[in-house]
Amino acid sequence: MWSFSSVSNRFAALPEAFFSKVAPTPLENTRWVAWNSALAKQLSLPESHQSHPQLMSILSGSDVPKNFVPIAMKYAGHQFGVYNPDLGDGRGLLLCELTDVNGAVWDIHLKGAGMTPYSRSGDGRAVLRSTIREYLCSEAMHGLGIPTTRALGMMVSDTPVYREKAEQGALLIRCAESHIRFGHFEHFFYTQQWDELKLLADKVIDWYWPECRMSAHPYESMFQRVVDTTAKMIAKWQAIGFTHGVMNTDNMSIIGQTFDYGPFAFLDDYDPSYICNHSDYEGRYAFDQQPRIALWNLSALAHSLSTLISKDRLENALSAYEGLLGRYFSSEMRNKLGLLSRQEGDTELFSDLFSLLERQNTDYTNFMRQLAMVDQKGYQPVLDLFVDRSMAGKWLERYIRRCELEVDEKGDVVTNCTRCNRMRQHNPKYILRNYLAQQAIEKAQQGDFSMVNSLAKLLRSPFDEHPKHEKLASLPPDWGKGMEISCSS
Ligand code: AMP
Ligand code: MG
Repeated sequence: MWSFSSVSNRFAALPEAFFSKVAPTPLENTRWVAWNSALAKQLSLPESHQSHPQLMSILSGSDVPKNFVPIAMKYAGHQFGVYNPDLGDGRGLLLCELTDVNGAVWDIHLKGAGMTPYSRSGDGRAVLRSTIREYLCSEAMHGLGIPTTRALGMMVSDTPVYREKAEQGALLIRCAESHIRFGHFEHFFYTQQWDELKLLADKVIDWYWPECRMSAHPYESMFQRVVDTTAKMIAKWQAIGFTHGVMNTDNMSIIGQTFDYGPFAFLDDYDPSYICNHSDYEGRYAFDQQPRIALWNLSALAHSLSTLISKDRLENALSAYEGLLGRYFSSEMRNKLGLLSRQEGDTELFSDLFSLLERQNTDYTNFMRQLAMVDQKGYQPVLDLFVDRSMAGKWLERYIRRCELEVDEKGDVVTNCTRCNRMRQHNPKYILRNYLAQQAIEKAQQGDFSMVNSLAKLLRSPFDEHPKHEKLASLPPDWGKGMEISCSS
């Protein structure tokens, strides 16, 4: 059970060059509107937010016990390719750490807790709509099995926050095993604080990958892990159809978790050039650019590690990225298509599918989910998803023939039923489509959080059938297709 003495804050024990101590600035008249009881349980916190008012006032930022050292972390980063030295937690605070039931240490971070020395011209706040989007999406990503920060709870307040117009201020309790970003290393590199840079690398090894100490080159080994976990995360984004929208290096987690949810989107129609960020005029962070941008970001990190790791070793680690990404992506797609063995012609089968979906503006998630139903007896419901059925029919014929080459351990052809069940574990029925997030936000802005909470629950098990919520698997209405989201959050 949680107690005041069980908290830690390892980051706050680092030298002050790493952060500023800042107390949260409480919001007015806060109300809990979402509480993630499963995550709370994992963290040995009360499953109901009503049962421990004192804890809740700590998490809302209005009460800071003596043994807590809330801090705003200092970092920098490349934003849209341009280095910005002036970043840091401008509206977030690392409140403390908690150890979960499995012994893992989690950061408890308050997003929207007021101004810090890194707020620049910002107000230190987060508006309700962006808080809901992050709450829902981080839980949806977790449900999909994609590495991500989590959300423990969300509060709404009467504090007005001004963006294009006055909006309600809100607070997100974000949890993650790390809040260290690529930009933390960049800050120390560009300010030539070599001791701090080395200390940070040492802490990343100690906290996340202690096995790197066994290597003859621990820092190189650490960087290889960053490359590997980043490649794995990107492969999962591309396979599920997730586009982050702001892949600046300050939004890249050092442990390869999806981090800082802003204008993200899940693809509706399969459109590889889709740009979800309203301010991304050149499409730097378009869906199909993500693999390339992740490598760009890793190269920026490599540059910042060049006082710790030789150029050859950095280049060597970076050169592994493409192969890793390819292998992870191919494994994701094999699972999605139910084709676990490797056969001649698979690469063409996969790429022809992507061309088909792109040319026919087919809904990606819906198609993938329905594909499990295809068998030798027919594929009419899948065909109905296409405008040009003859082109789709040809691909589906090839797919059926290819499925017949899948055999189990005994050498028998894998039955359609087995394949279908397997595929359903990799092709979600429910994703956080932007139109659903928008509907939940509009209700919440009227004081009704029922859709936020029912969506959060549903999206935690997106591969299951939820007959009562069939409507939430519907395709977007015209207004909800290809929405662009503003960065002002
Ligand atoms: P983001 O676009 O949310 O990744 O944030 C980029 C930088 O701007 C980070 O240093 C944030 O802390 C800071 N920032 C974003 N919004 C605000 C805000 N409302 N007040 C203060 N700082 C902010
Ligand atoms: Mg950010």
